[in-house]
Amino acid sequence: MLGKYSFGIGDRFGHQGKAQLAAMRKAKEAGADVTPVWNKSQREHSIIGTGPGDVRREADAAVAACNWETPYFVDADHISLRNVEHFIEASDFFTLDVADFIGQPAAPADIDTFLSRHAALVGTLEIGGIVEAFNVDEPSLRAIASKYLAAVREAGRIYRHIESRKGAGQFVTEVSMDETDAPQTPVELLVILAAIADEGIPAQTVAPKFSGRFNKGVDYVGELETFATEFEQDLAVIAYAVREFGLPEDLKLSIHSGSDKFSIYEPIQSALKRLDAGLHVKTAGTTWLEELIGLALAGDDGLAIAKEVYNQALARMDELCGPYATVIDIDKSRLPDPRIVANWDGSLFARALRHDPFCAYYNYHFRQLLHVGYKIAAEMGPRFLKALERYEDTIAEHVTANIYDRHLRLLFVD
Ligand SMILES: [Zn+2]
Repeated sequence: MLGKYSFGIGDRFGHQGKAQLAAMRKAKEAGADVTPVWNKSQREHSIIGTGPGDVRREADAAVAACNWETPYFVDADHISLRNVEHFIEASDFFTLDVADFIGQPAAPADIDTFLSRHAALVGTLEIGGIVEAFNVDEPSLRAIASKYLAAVREAGRIYRHIESRKGAGQFVTEVSMDETDAPQTPVELLVILAAIADEGIPAQTVAPKFSGRFNKGVDYVGELETFATEFEQDLAVIAYAVREFGLPEDLKLSIHSGSDKFSIYEPIQSALKRLDAGLHVKTAGTTWLEELIGLALAGDDGLAIAKEVYNQALARMDELCGPYATVIDIDKSRLPDPRIVANWDGSLFARALRHDPFCAYYNYHFRQLLHVGYKIAAEMGPRFLKALERYEDTIAEHVTANIYDRHLRLLFVD
């Protein structure tokens, strides 16, 4: 069981599983059961040179070492029919990414079938938990169905492939549509969920694209009020869809790149409490930035490595930012000159990088560039991995504190 609250922890280099679990343990002690989910996408695997089996081994080893007795999962993150096979054995959580299929033409017969089956969606729709009723007319329902049916059909194909290999009920299914340009409205989410139910996908989490920007490793950018309203409406839509369409009881929202979005955690937590809803938060692999912070603070070769990663990331900025172009906003003129960074001590490097919005030295641009700079560390190979081992204690402290103090506590505990 995934449970009410779950947290997706990326761990690019596979060394921080125990430190990540320590944060979950702290949440448990504070009264919030949060299921850990280790996620890694094909993009990350190919940049680092790892495979899904490495994530499985890390998760199992961390769980054994920490005597973690409640469930945990290994997430095949953002998979498609093209690469799902590679993840089948190691994973028990599959994030089916069908964003590329949004807007592709659906068969007219499929659209007609959908409209006749869901005629009840036309008209004024009162959904518990939402103050304003939705008004949906037939043309707009048809337009929404036309836009999303092909994507849901594709999710059905991927789901059935996994089911044929692993067996029904043996894995968690997430349907994700977050990596696209336009956010989905609550009415669109409702239509998507109806189609997911028609397709027979027992989805346990669904990741829409929300309004505003969810850049990697930094705070939310957007209208807080708009987000808060949309988030609450989405929660209410999910509760409605579970009742009306017979989707799994524990279906919940999933927020991708949900780490570091401090300004929306308060509205999220209050909405979850008010509507008694669950949530999956997938982080953006920012544990790797805590590794850099720990290395910088350790001094000596640790600090040298941190500075070298920055220098090379700056020199190869376009190449590193390419795959992440739509989810980062870096102003080159705000990046510190390497000649200045050369004179920084570990504490200054850590303060520029750590996501503490109240710290005068925190540099949003520096942080985002380093976030995509993990390829440089991967290329350092054994030198980087040995440093992670040598400075494990310092690093672990920062990994745990980041996940617990800045995330789990604010989302699920306070
Ligand atoms: Zn995503």
